Amino acid sequence: MTLPNPVTARHATSAGFVPDADAARGQLDAALQCRLDGQMSNPPRDPNHNSELSRRALLWTGAVAALTPWAIDDALAADQPTPAAGAAANAIAPSEALKRLMAGNARYAANKPDQRDFSAGRAARVQGQAPIAAILSCADARLSPEFAFDQAPGELFVTRVAGNILSQDLLASFEYGVEFLGIPLVMVLGHSGCGAVDAAIKRWKDKLVLPGHLPELIGAIKPSVAAAEKMKTGNLLDNSIAENVRRQVAQLKSAAPIVQKSYESKKIDIVGAVYDIPTGKVTLL
Ligand SMILES: [Zn+2]
Repeated sequence: MTLPNPVTARHATSAGFVPDADAARGQLDAALQCRLDGQMSNPPRDPNHNSELSRRALLWTGAVAALTPWAIDDALAADQPTPAAGAAANAIAPSEALKRLMAGNARYAANKPDQRDFSAGRAARVQGQAPIAAILSCADARLSPEFAFDQAPGELFVTRVAGNILSQDLLASFEYGVEFLGIPLVMVLGHSGCGAVDAAIKRWKDKLVLPGHLPELIGAIKPSVAAAEKMKTGNLLDNSIAENVRRQVAQLKSAAPIVQKSYESKKIDIVGAVYDIPTGKVTLL
């Protein structure tokens, strides 16, 4: 089974990635069905199992739990897990979640992180996750959200891609986090000296030729560079980085049906921020 190419889909419109609920849902359904089909080809050793029971059993296993809610059809809707079932540790206001992140960043920047026992809580984490924030971060190795915000395992739901640009796959991840994990805060986190944004500038201004699939990725940043070029103050790289973050935030806020609805009903907040590599400090935009 051939899965839809999210990169191609993202650039299917000249205006860049425009969330399309129906298209996104269709891709997710197809992807999840494919995963389930793969799982079903090797069903569990249950003498009483039939295809329906196996399907239900699979939906509740850790192997597919991360994505199963979308694979449940209407007939199984009643079996869907309650959002953040059994784990209300993240049932806090978006402002409280943001406060915790910024306090953690202050500790990190001061090189005074909390002392952690990483083995503590492992057994409890088997039961589920209740992150306080979902973060769309650049893949840059110099930026690690868990470190930057001094958060323990289970606290952050992080997706990463060079240039911290939204795609349908990542949007689906945020939908899962918001709808089924009860995450109260979504953050887009850019960083100083971003190579992906710098490449977009060079491609835009110097006609830099990039190999492989890089043009598709970098092309998604082009609108931010174009907007930054019109700014009167600051330098082009910093302005493009900030503008790119703001644009991803705007896309998330209008990403129907799940994220937009959660944002407009104030169930969640969506913020943008930039991490400064030399100081380790995060600045909200
Ligand atoms: Zn970067």
